[in-house]
Order: sequence, then structure tokens, then C-alpha cells
Amino acid sequence: MKRADQLKQLDSQSEWDIVVIGGGASGLGIAVDAANRGHKTLLLEKYDFAKGTSSRSTKLVHGGVRYLQNGDISLVIEALRERGIMRKNAPHLVQDLSFVIPSYDWWNSPFYGLGLKVYDMMAGKLGLGPSTILDREETLKLIPNVNREGLRGGVIYHDGQFDDARMAISLALTAHQQGAKLINYCEVTGLEKTDNLITGIHLTDRINDIKKTIKTKVVVNATGVFSDEIIQMDQPNTPKMIRPSQGVHLVIEKKFLNGPHAIMVPHTTDGRVLFAVPWNQYVVVGTTDTPIKKALEDPIPLEEEIQFILDNAGAYMTKKPTRKDVKSVFAGLRPLAASSDNNESTKEVSRHHKITVSTSGLISVLGGKWTTYRKIAEDAVNTIQLVGGLSERKCETDTLPIFGFDYNSDWSDPLHCYGTEVQKLININPKTAMQSLSNKLHITENQIRWAVREEMAIHLEDVLARRTRCLFLDAYETEKIAPKVATIMADELNADSEWIIKELNLFSSLIKKYQI
Ligand SMILES: Cc1cc2nc3c(=O)[nH]c(=O)nc-3n(C[C@H](O)[C@H](O)[C@H](O)COP(=O)(O)OP(=O)(O)OC[C@H]3O[C@@H](n4cnc5c(N)ncnc54)[C@H](O)[C@@H]3O)c2cc1C
Repeated sequence: MKRADQLKQLDSQSEWDIVVIGGGASGLGIAVDAANRGHKTLLLEKYDFAKGTSSRSTKLVHGGVRYLQNGDISLVIEALRERGIMRKNAPHLVQDLSFVIPSYDWWNSPFYGLGLKVYDMMAGKLGLGPSTILDREETLKLIPNVNREGLRGGVIYHDGQFDDARMAISLALTAHQQGAKLINYCEVTGLEKTDNLITGIHLTDRINDIKKTIKTKVVVNATGVFSDEIIQMDQPNTPKMIRPSQGVHLVIEKKFLNGPHAIMVPHTTDGRVLFAVPWNQYVVVGTTDTPIKKALEDPIPLEEEIQFILDNAGAYMTKKPTRKDVKSVFAGLRPLAASSDNNESTKEVSRHHKITVSTSGLISVLGGKWTTYRKIAEDAVNTIQLVGGLSERKCETDTLPIFGFDYNSDWSDPLHCYGTEVQKLININPKTAMQSLSNKLHITENQIRWAVREEMAIHLEDVLARRTRCLFLDAYETEKIAPKVATIMADELNADSEWIIKELNLFSSLIKKYQI
């Protein structure tokens, strides 16, 4: 998947069947499905794949215990089914994770225990394991650092966990394998119309600063929290359809959990749920739900969100994390599909997706979850086929293996997310294959070269934030290794010292947003 080769296709293809705007979970899922059904598909992403919300999730592949509490049964059933499909098709990227809900009131365990039995039943054959009620000793054994004061017991249940940005890159590679063309750093700046129907798009290649107009039968708007911008390009004055809601996560050292199990807090001070999830030798804690007026590509965590997470997580831990324990902080924006009255709080807005079609034929995909990306894509491509008058072919992505599919992936190996590609990555240079540039984070010279050669990494940020997850895990350690990483990238890209200085300057202003 080389950017220069993908760009050449822009000139050789006279008309596309489908242009997908946006390279997050929804857009990439659509590109995979559309190409798999044999449609000529082009995906354009303004920044890097998964630069938006899709690299900033809690990294759960889940039915959503919270939605069960809210009574959104159809969403839970759909998400549990998709959880099972995602695990089956990407065993190198999705793993089973056990969650413990500690209980401090006599009624907590039977209450949550019963709810989780319903959750298990809803997953049916695609279940990951039965939930069980725990006594105090069993709870302490699973979560040694859980707050002991007043602890009565707990409940253990199972859900999935994944690396969102690695999944996005693997979806891009799957789409490419299926015949789609994908270009990052390529912005859609306008829509072309003939007789009031959309017949093309205007784009800017932001790396080479080249503008082009492309012909296509259908345009799909999968731009998450930026969807209203594309909708306005089509029909100015359309009421806003997205309500962005910010969620913040803090990353702390593993010692705060001291075990392989996650904690799920079922009722925070604002009536939501909070997770503390082990991830790559660290623990991700979050999240919040704060309505935001203006969507930014690098959203800024608010002080009160950081304090809220520290307070609520600290209440459940013997060793309470403080600001100085935070290794990284990241914020993401939920692209919630607004309801017509817009009255409910963002935590009450359904996480179901919506697909809309404008009178000029623009298809917009709104809302949804990472977990349901495949179903969102299936629904979108069914609509695309109708709107574009394309030949109607059936969706087969429920059995389509994701790029690198490897049932024997060893999850204790930090390279497991590359699946079947691991050996090729090692062969780049066997001597440097396991030599990490950092003692805290796993990042090797081979991974950096692989990201540039095979995964379309263009900027230093692409390698440190999404091809590897260094920036999200430990922004302070990442700052130390950035110059080395930039030098290796420059060597691979044949770039000069000026490129290194420019990239390091760009990265140093970004990294501050991940440090508190
Ligand atoms: C805090 C938080 C936690 C979450 N946790 C979970 C979880 O644990 N599990 C789960 O299943 N879901 C979770 N979600 C939901 C999930 O992350 C999102 O539903 C999903 O990532 C949205 O993907 P998307 O493709 O719609 O949007 P995005 O990932 O934002 O993708 C849209 C893309 O469009 C691009 N774009 C915008 N304008 C243009 C343009 N003009 N031209 C070209 N490209 C453009 C953007 O750069 C962006 O990359 C979470 C969400 C948040 C915010």
C-alpha cells in the first residue's frame, strides 16, 4: 500500500463507483465492504487513517453493559453479534478480556450478576465466557489493588479488547487487498454537481499541494464529527446532524491495577460507567461525556475531565493515581447522531448509527460504535448500491478475514498485531527486529521502516501515534525517542536533515497536548 501508487490511480481511473470521505472506522469499513462486493472504490482521508475518533476510543469491542442499563436492547444485541464476528475475523487484533465490577453494597453483586447473565445470554454462541459472582477474597485475588474498605465481593464478566488504530490500519490494508484505493493526507474540499445531482468531488493532495476533480457515481460522507461540514457543502443551511461529545482517557502505569483484569465502575459521580483497562504494560482509565461546540482534529482534555477521572478511579484503588502519575492523556469526540428534538443529555443519546441520503444523492453515515463498524458498512453499502444504481451484490464481510489474520497469534509478543506479516517485518533486519528503542515502550527500527514501507506512514506522528501507540501510552518517554525515530524515518524516506527538524517541531507541539 504505497501512497505514490495510489495517487497514480487518480489519473488512470476515469470514473469511480464510490468515493468514501473519511478514513476512520466507518469509512474504512465501507471501503472494505464496497471493494469486496466488486465496486470501484476510492477512500480519501484528510489527515492520517484513524487520526480522528477512531484512534481515541477505550479500545473495547463490546456489547456495552451501559446500554443494557439504558434499556437499548437492540444496540446491545447488534454489538454483541459484531463483537463475536470481529474476534473471529481478526484474532490477531481482538482478544477476550475479563472485567471485574467490585461491589460495596450487599445488593450490588446479585443485581449486576443478574444483568450480566442477560448480557451473556444475548451474546449466545458468540459469547466470550460466562459471568460469575465473586466473594471478597476472589475479588481481591483478581484485582489486588482494589479498594478494600467496605468491599463485599464483585462480578466478573467478559468482553473484547483491541488496538483501535492498528485495527484501522489493518482495515486499510484489507480494503487495498480487495482492490480499493486509499489515500491519506488528501482532503475533500467540495462536491461537483450536474443537474443538482452529485457527480464528483474536488480534492487537495496535502502532501504535494495538488488539486483535482474526480468523477464518481456515489459519494459517502464518513467524516465522523466533521459530517456536518460535508453536508453543508452539499446543502448549505441544513440543520446540524451531529452532536460532538468529548471523552477523555488517562494512561497510568500498570502497578495501579497490578493484574491482567480490568475494573468496571458501574456508577460514577455523573451516573456513567468508568473503565480501568490494562493495555500494553499500562492502564487506560476513562472516560467522560462532555458536550463540545466546535470539533477539533486534536481535541483538548478539560481540567475538570482529568480531575473527574482521577477522583472516580481513585475511589476504587488502594494506590490512588495523581496528576504526576499520568503518562499520557488523550481526548476523542463521539460523533453522536442528533435526535430531532436534541433535548437529551449526550450520555442519553443512542449510539445507534443512522444513514441519510440527501436529495442530491449524498450518503452520510452518522453515529455508531467501533464495535459495529462492519454492520454500519454493510448498511451503508446496501444504500450506496441503491442510490448509485450499482449492481446489487450481497455483503460477505461477516466471514472476511482481516489483513494479517492469524489464529495462532501469541498475545505476549508485542508484534502480535501484525499477524501473518511478523516474519516479513523481522526479515527487514533480523538483528534489529527485537531491539526496542525504549525500555518502557516497544518500538523497533524494523517497525518504523515497515510503517513507512507498507503502511503509508508519512509523518513522525503517524509512526508514534497510530502505527505504534507510543504517544498514547507514554507521552514523556515518546518525547525522548522521537529524534531517533525521525532519523530512521528520514533514512527510509530518503529525506534530509531539514525534514527531520520540521517533523520534530511539528511533533513537539502535538506532544504537549498528551502531557499534563
Ligand atoms: C472517548 C471515546 C471512547 C470510545 N470507546 C469506544 C469503545 O471502547 N468501543 C467502541 O466500539 N466504540 C468506542 N467509541 C466510539 C468509536 O470510537 C467511534 O464511533 C468511531 O471511532 C467513529 O468512527 P468514524 O469513522 O465515524 O469517525 P472518525 O474516526 O473521526 O473518522 C472520520 C475521519 O474523517 C476525516 N475527514 C474529515 N473531514 C474530511 C474531509 N473533508 N476529507 C477527507 N477526510 C475528512 C477525519 O480526518 C477523520 O479521520 C468511543 C468514542 C469515544 C469518543
